Amino acid sequence: MSIDESWDEGCTSPPAPGGAALIAAADGEADETTLAHLQVCPVCAARVMHLRALQRQLLRRLYRLHCPPTDLLVDYCQGLLEPQVRAALDHHLASCPHCAAEVSLLEHGLPLVQALGQGRRGRLTVPLP
Ligand SMILES: [Zn+2]
Ligand SMILES: [Zn+2]
Repeated sequence: MSIDESWDEGCTSPPAPGGAALIAAADGEADETTLAHLQVCPVCAARVMHLRALQRQLLRRLYRLHCPPTDLLVDYCQGLLEPQVRAALDHHLASCPHCAAEVSLLEHGLPLVQALGQGRRGRLTVPLP
């Protein structure tokens, strides 16, 4: 009996690629053997799709974990921040595509943001790409 036994389950042409190979495939770094297998085996291909979706969720969560709240980005756009805070935010924006996108959206809609200014402690939601 082997722990890997269930891994082959449903695989249309066993042996199924190992977990590491599937994760590499989800990253777009599959080797040729794995790629060839994925083309003939919808079951393993579905596993890769699932892994990829999980990774994307995880990545988004990691990004947002270290991200400043939208309120702060609004203040940033309006030039209301202390120089130190602004500098820290500049640094963050340089490395965070999510917040950079949010700021460019905010700047684009600045008149709207200013109109909302009085009530801006209410959460402003900006759809992410
Ligand atoms: Zn397979
Ligand atoms: Zn961010």
